[in-house]
Amino acid sequence: MLTRIDFRGEPVATLGVRALAGMLPRAELDVEAAVATVRPICDDVRERGAAAVREHTARFDGVDLPTTRVPREALAAALASLDTAVAAALREAARRTRLVHEAQVPAESVTVVADGSSVTERYVPVASAGVYVPGGLVAYPSSVVMNVIPAQAAGVARIAVASPPQADRGGLPHPAVLAACELLGVTEVHAVGGAQAIAMLGYGTEDCEAVDTITGPGNVYVAAAKRLLRGVIGTDAEAGPTEVAIIADGGANAAFVAADLIAQAEHDPLAACLLITTDHGLAGRVDAELTRQLATARHAGRVKEALTGQSACVLVDDLDCALAVADAWAPEHLEIQAAGAAALAGRVRNAGAVFVGEYAPVSLGDYLAGSNHVLPTGGTARHSGGLSVLTFLRGIHVVNANAAALAHVAPHIEALGGAEDLVAHVRAVRIRVPEGTNGAGVVAAAGKGPAAAAEQLPPLRPDLAGSSPYGAPQIDAPVRLNTNENPFPPSKGLVREIGEAAAAAAAMLNRYPDREALGLRRDLATYLGHGLRAEQVWAANGSNEIIQQLLQAFGGPGRGVLGFEPSYSMHPIIARTTSTGWIEGSRDAGFGIDADQAVVAIRELGPDLVFVTSPNNPTGTAVPLSVIERICAAAPGIVVVDEAYAEFARDQDATALAILPRYPRLVVVRTMSKAFALAGARLGYLGADRSVVEALQIVRLPYHLSAITQAAARAALARSTELLASVSAIRAERDGLVSWLRARGLSVADSDANFVLFGKFADRRVIWQRLLDQGVLIREVGPPGWLRVTIGTGPEMEAFRIALEAAIA
Ligand code: PMP
Repeated sequence: MLTRIDFRGEPVATLGVRALAGMLPRAELDVEAAVATVRPICDDVRERGAAAVREHTARFDGVDLPTTRVPREALAAALASLDTAVAAALREAARRTRLVHEAQVPAESVTVVADGSSVTERYVPVASAGVYVPGGLVAYPSSVVMNVIPAQAAGVARIAVASPPQADRGGLPHPAVLAACELLGVTEVHAVGGAQAIAMLGYGTEDCEAVDTITGPGNVYVAAAKRLLRGVIGTDAEAGPTEVAIIADGGANAAFVAADLIAQAEHDPLAACLLITTDHGLAGRVDAELTRQLATARHAGRVKEALTGQSACVLVDDLDCALAVADAWAPEHLEIQAAGAAALAGRVRNAGAVFVGEYAPVSLGDYLAGSNHVLPTGGTARHSGGLSVLTFLRGIHVVNANAAALAHVAPHIEALGGAEDLVAHVRAVRIRVPEGTNGAGVVAAAGKGPAAAAEQLPPLRPDLAGSSPYGAPQIDAPVRLNTNENPFPPSKGLVREIGEAAAAAAAMLNRYPDREALGLRRDLATYLGHGLRAEQVWAANGSNEIIQQLLQAFGGPGRGVLGFEPSYSMHPIIARTTSTGWIEGSRDAGFGIDADQAVVAIRELGPDLVFVTSPNNPTGTAVPLSVIERICAAAPGIVVVDEAYAEFARDQDATALAILPRYPRLVVVRTMSKAFALAGARLGYLGADRSVVEALQIVRLPYHLSAITQAAARAALARSTELLASVSAIRAERDGLVSWLRARGLSVADSDANFVLFGKFADRRVIWQRLLDQGVLIREVGPPGWLRVTIGTGPEMEAFRIALEAAIA
């Protein structure tokens, strides 16, 4: 059934992308011709607004509507009468799509390019977006999900949906579209279709204010109207006929391959389907399957037209050639059903979306994978990606520079401005930092002028401007479960011993303390075990200072650290204060780290440091050692495993200390603040190769650990068995709380720490406040909708449970 194109024996990989693409079939869509047809309609709507929309709607859709706005009641009624299975499917599709798209939102980044000069990149959503949803005999509520959710995840405040009115439904759009809007919380829906809908959204009418960006599929007239309005509004890529390429080897399941080709062809007689195979036998088997399955296909007519039209089976020598063909064709969808599919997927350069292995068909992506199904067609995947939050966001560069920084580059600006004959550009710089000055005197001189008040602000580094200090709210509530402290104070005996040790140290406070803290490091090495020696251990004022020293030594200007968020909020903050670039990696839906993705990210980004928090804060989840090993094996620099909560982990063997001997660049950070119940003493430490410790000695301040701190920590370590006894009580209390919360239908992240993250609440602040009103302070932290509670004493947890029951009642 499929036309054969035989590339066997051809030098496919060296043919050149354009030449190769020219040998492969694909239908063309003449959008330009349609532009001439839609121009008068769009112009009319621009000039006459709602009246023009009304007339064109009457002409094309056969309905006369006094207003385009669909009443709220119609949306609610559509959802109420939607088939329950369809509603449940849409909800699950929405949940997955939201997860994926929320993870896409880029973090703000600050790049310090030189002393006093930085560029911050902020991503700001457009204020309003229009989404076009085609109507007709069949409607695509999945299109509503795929377009609306990225806009919502991007933070777009106003979303207006337009969909054609239907004469036999009282002038309302298809009920499935209305129901999907209601389900996603879209309240502004307009009953307008075609080019007039795009013009209404783009130019605005009395019924519909103009939007900034329009997305959504449609026929050639909709595409033409979007092309016409480009410049007035932002749009997504132009959608041509849909297409799939399937790379398959001899081991592929011919029935699966044929089913996927038919599924794609079912969309449109112009759909293009390419089977790219290394196996002649498979080509025959797929053909036989196509014939067999077509006999019972619902839309056999258009499927056959597509498969015998602009579709083909391409025979190639090997999988490398298959990949070269796929890259040249740059398909909207690319399936890989061949041995080593995941590795091949990692090598794909041009495709809208890639579907790996025989259990990831395009149909999964069309509806429920969570990926977006609005993808580049017609070979545009060579330069564009699919619809995403970025379609609705704009990156804004915020440029900061002080006088000295400007003076420093003034000669370069002079050279470039001179070469381009833009003398005024140069003058605009020299008026601020005259030749021969280095900027140092400029601020002082300005101090005498009218800007004096502004100049009196201390000259904070520009990349820190606008930052606020770290601070969990310090509210004096009766039950404080907000900062992951250990709720059990030191015993009387330990208090006495710390007192005695501190008194002995006090007797020598005229002298500096032991700069190398050798005794303490020896005691810490003994506690850590795993064969560690004192020279492999380093201590500082809390693990926060340890992290700061690590970044001072191994990070710094021009260097980057990769972390997997959501995680401990101080990591990016300390990165920033040490001028280290923060690279935000992500965790999976269960807050774990996907080793494959982490390895890809590390290979691509080559971070100087990688931070892994395990057990993680604020989610509580531990990262398996196998994942940490994969990260260590891939990372080009230092890997820091922040194990502040290690002692609370359910699996005590999961500590990265166990693999230290194999990875000389691995650093395991611990603290006495949590399990040792010594947060007030400020003692953090690490285990690592001795060369790491030696590097930290370069950046630490002389005598950074006071004699009192060292004495208190050593006294506590001498009683470690007693102190750690509280850990098992806290773990038992935690496991009980997790079950209790789950029994109440709440989502709870698996916890290996002394706190639990639970949710999800539509408005977590309300729950947090209700708890506080009852005297229980917890922490509003983590992904939207979640709250974190630290495990307290038995009575404190009882108070929390009572307060929470009341808060969620
Ligand atoms: N790492 C993690 C993951 C934390 O949660 C914390 C404190 N909450 C720290 C480090 C810092 O702890 P400290 O400075 O008290 O040792």
